[in-house]
Amino acid sequence: MQPVIHLGKCEGAGDCQEVCPYNVFEIRKATEEERTGFNFKERLKSFVHGHKKAFVVNPDQCHACGLCVKACPEKAIKLERYLAD
Ligand code: SF4
Repeated sequence: MQPVIHLGKCEGAGDCQEVCPYNVFEIRKATEEERTGFNFKERLKSFVHGHKKAFVVNPDQCHACGLCVKACPEKAIKLERYLAD
């Protein structure tokens, strides 16, 4: 399993990064390309939070404990089956 982040919902609060024992997440500013497809509310929210978002950088380290899903204040994370190449 690996976490999948709904970038439009994410406010980059960093709770996922704090609770994950395996350094699966990174918080950084989303690029313009990564923000493509956001609706009006998501664009506004992104702007207000300086476009800070969580990204999954080490998906293969996920132990599917679910801590990040519970910790996210925006309910922006779900766990999905991970198929490594
Ligand atoms: S489910 Fe657990 S191990 Fe996986 S990313 Fe979330 S907090 Fe980290």
